[in-house]
Amino acid sequence: MKKRLVVLGGGESGVGAAILGRAKGFDVFLSDAGSIKPAYLEALRQRGICHEQGGHSEQLILNADEVVKSPGIPDTAPLVQRLAAAGIPVIAEVELAARYTKAKLVCVTGSNGKTTTASLIYRMMKSAGMSVGLGGNIGKSFALQVATEHFGYYVLELSSFQLDNMYRFKADVAVLLNITPDHMDRYGNNLERYARSKLRIAQNMDKKGCFIYCADDEVTMKYLPEIGVKAQLLGFSQKKEAARGVFLEGVFLSSNKTKLVSMYKDDVFEMLVGELSLKGKHNLYNSMAASIAGQVLRIKKEHIRNSLMGFEGVEHRLEPVLKVGGVLFVNDSKATNINATWYALESMTAPTVWIVGGVDKGNDYGELAQLVKQKVKAIVCLGVDNRKIHAAFEGAVAPIVDAKSAAEAVKAAYELSAKGDTVLLSPACASFDLFQSYEDRGKQFKSAVRYL
Ligand code: ADP
Repeated sequence: MKKRLVVLGGGESGVGAAILGRAKGFDVFLSDAGSIKPAYLEALRQRGICHEQGGHSEQLILNADEVVKSPGIPDTAPLVQRLAAAGIPVIAEVELAARYTKAKLVCVTGSNGKTTTASLIYRMMKSAGMSVGLGGNIGKSFALQVATEHFGYYVLELSSFQLDNMYRFKADVAVLLNITPDHMDRYGNNLERYARSKLRIAQNMDKKGCFIYCADDEVTMKYLPEIGVKAQLLGFSQKKEAARGVFLEGVFLSSNKTKLVSMYKDDVFEMLVGELSLKGKHNLYNSMAASIAGQVLRIKKEHIRNSLMGFEGVEHRLEPVLKVGGVLFVNDSKATNINATWYALESMTAPTVWIVGGVDKGNDYGELAQLVKQKVKAIVCLGVDNRKIHAAFEGAVAPIVDAKSAAEAVKAAYELSAKGDTVLLSPACASFDLFQSYEDRGKQFKSAVRYL
């Protein structure tokens, strides 16, 4: 009898998992409590995959041999609890897909910087002529690509929610960028639980694998020794030099002499920090991680260098939009937590009008106080409830004004700025109070700038 695979969630990853499951001979059923987008419905219909939307029919789900769960559905959802009680294995789409490919897997996780770093490594591999796909949280799902492509490598961006339902998955190269509080609502406000989720990226790795991590990240360094990683450990640090891994040389000389030095086995790659296309300390970490990943993958130095010099960044991540009347507008809509915004503010070199706000996931704005004092001349709050932002910065920054749309915020920020200033949208919050998504917020911001 065919094994029954039930897929919960009909988005990119769920539909990909259903298509792969079908191709591999499972009896597949996909169920979504909300509505499924027309393009995905069409893909399911074309392949004759049974599905439902607008609710879960338990009798069609609790008879599964295995369930693929969308990372958006928490373990506390009643249906997921019932599956656990019935002893039905629940896995991530990435776990399923990895069973059906022999490709080498380069995996990137962390609280911030995943998309940027995964994209950078992918571009590097492509420019070196490697057969490589990009998946996980980006673009086409990994499962769909495994079903329809034949790449030799994949670069996968993995979130902690995906890692939570990955058990046998084995990365060949793993990058853990950082661990800072995010999604604490899903981890019972327990940073250790969240950290252990992130570190699952190293589970099952063997001596042949390489685990690339940030040696400056306190949380990583606290839990890493406890989990006993078998892979080769390669750290990157902006604070200390090491015998291997990536570090900076010449930091105390003039800043244009600072060099990134990346050492893997007897291979040394060096490059001036000023030549990196991505700016800011956070992006320097991302570039460091990517450079050693490139060496591990035996990519020629010219390709590593050219990729690090030419990478134009990813939309909505510290993205320069336009200069209007000598004021530069920067779109960092993807900054949905304090840490991402910290790095955005830190990278500002001109007086800054800061647009901040939205749905706060438990922010402590005190962590930004010092930087705000140094860099911010005015604040525009872009959210439904801005009380916490007012309370945190009143007295430290004046003026603080409120806006209820991207257009209003851009107009107010422009009025508060002068030639040579920067207007930075870096909200430190999710977008769902006023926008559909962070992409929607960023796009509305950019179009409002263009209409000024
Ligand atoms: P993710 O995929 O992990 O959300 P992104 O590359 O999309 O990461 O970047 C999300 C936000 O975090 C952006 O505002 C970006 O400028 C910022 N960011 C990027 N890399 C880092 C990093 N290494 N540390 C902190 N913040 C970062």
